[in-house]
Amino acid sequence: MTATAKAKTYQNYIGGEWRDASGGTTSENRNPARPSEILGHFQSSEVADVERAMDAAHGARDSWRKLSPIARGNILYKASQIIERRADEIGEALTREEGKTFKEGKGETLRASTILRFFAGETAQSIGERLPSSNPTTFLYTERVPLGVVAAITPWNFPIAIPTWKIAPALAYGNTVVFKPAELTPLTATLLVESLAEAGLPPGVLNLVTGSGRRIGDAIVRHPAVNAITFTGSNEVGKALYRQALESERGVKVQLEMGGKNPVIVNRDADLDLALTQTINGAMMSSGQKCTATSRAFVHRAVYDEFVEKLTQRVGRLRLGDPLAATTDLGPLVSATQRDSVVDYIGIGQREGGELLTGGKADDLGDGYFVKPTIFTGITPEMRLAQEEIFGPVLVVLPVDGMEEGLTLANSVKYGLSASIFTRDIATAFSFIRDIDAGIIHINSETAGAEPHAPFGGMKASSSFSREQGKTAVEFFTQVKTVYFDWAYQTPLADKEEPGAPS
Ligand code: ADP
Repeated sequence: MTATAKAKTYQNYIGGEWRDASGGTTSENRNPARPSEILGHFQSSEVADVERAMDAAHGARDSWRKLSPIARGNILYKASQIIERRADEIGEALTREEGKTFKEGKGETLRASTILRFFAGETAQSIGERLPSSNPTTFLYTERVPLGVVAAITPWNFPIAIPTWKIAPALAYGNTVVFKPAELTPLTATLLVESLAEAGLPPGVLNLVTGSGRRIGDAIVRHPAVNAITFTGSNEVGKALYRQALESERGVKVQLEMGGKNPVIVNRDADLDLALTQTINGAMMSSGQKCTATSRAFVHRAVYDEFVEKLTQRVGRLRLGDPLAATTDLGPLVSATQRDSVVDYIGIGQREGGELLTGGKADDLGDGYFVKPTIFTGITPEMRLAQEEIFGPVLVVLPVDGMEEGLTLANSVKYGLSASIFTRDIATAFSFIRDIDAGIIHINSETAGAEPHAPFGGMKASSSFSREQGKTAVEFFTQVKTVYFDWAYQTPLADKEEPGAPS
């Protein structure tokens, strides 16, 4: 029996039922560390499937919105427990499908469980405010209400955490969801949806449609039932979604999280060992496939040579290999396309005159999509390697004369997601916090750190201003009703009412 014959066929989840896509076609999902291993066959959905999912989400809107938030929270809490219980299994599936190490895959799965628990708790929190009114008998208050149907379009690099940090708040605040995961990671998406379904979500509240974004993206975004789109992915697609939503007559709320080109600044007074460890983690974990990954290091000339020498040695020692093995530091890139794109960038860096200190394509690890952790020097700030998001294990190191220059160069890209500085000087740290264009700022820690209950999002081209995660998520996933309730309107009739009515 071939591997193909053994692999399971997975289905869409629409209106509470697992079902095939209408066109009857599926696509293979392969392990990027070992592309001969087929993990499953996933539905290649068509526009008709999107329409079914939208109808289901629209049909479930009213009953879900009218349910007590506490009851919604109880379901999310149950899902968090299911995911925690299945963390080894889901983490392993994630690793097989996406290629990050098992430690990272399981960690991400547990993070999803934590996010669900957080939003379960949020359902018992305040959803509005009481305001004084100029009329003493007017009870004036605001209430946050759901948007309706939310489309969640997600990337492959955090295949459970990102969908969860969109779906959990969407559901907690009373929206229904159509979830379109990345083509490359439908298995993790299916396991997430399975866990939420098992936790007791009513039919239609969460619907999963797998397949190509190019093929069904338009149908999702333009569907008349959609009230909001939450998207994480490339700038190109994000901006196109934004334009489509703006053109819509109905008003569709859009949230975008996109690229990054995240800098670290290493000051002359930095704890160099800490700066090295954190820069390597930020640049290389998940093979650099994080929107918050470190991709530029601006290092003070006073410590530049020592930093570059130690960095090159340490990065050269990172172990590339099977991401399921406990000894592996870096797995493969997610796909051949992604590998080729990163290898192209390495070639561009060399052609532009950069010096490749360590790294490059790894040809000695079978047919998996491996790229060695790569360090470049000799890159100038305007070169493509210093400007464009590479989304791979590639770090460019540039010397700077001081913090002012470091800051100017750090800000000289279109992105503004995360940034970090290594320094012991309080004034330097606070100046950095004040002047850096980044939504997430680290002092003496890596650019990729992000806690699940803290607001997440970027500045400039990285984001559309609204923040995900934590308490701020309520702002995107709800809209505000302002209520003026005059409770004394019946006063003139009071005599005619029952005696003893309060006056
Ligand atoms: P990445 O480089 O992370 O894959 P993409 O922006 O290509 O970023 O993909 C992110 C998500 O957007 C994926 O789920 C993908 O299927 C989806 N997508 C791609 N093209 C479109 C489109 N034209 N409309 C809607 N969604 C799309």
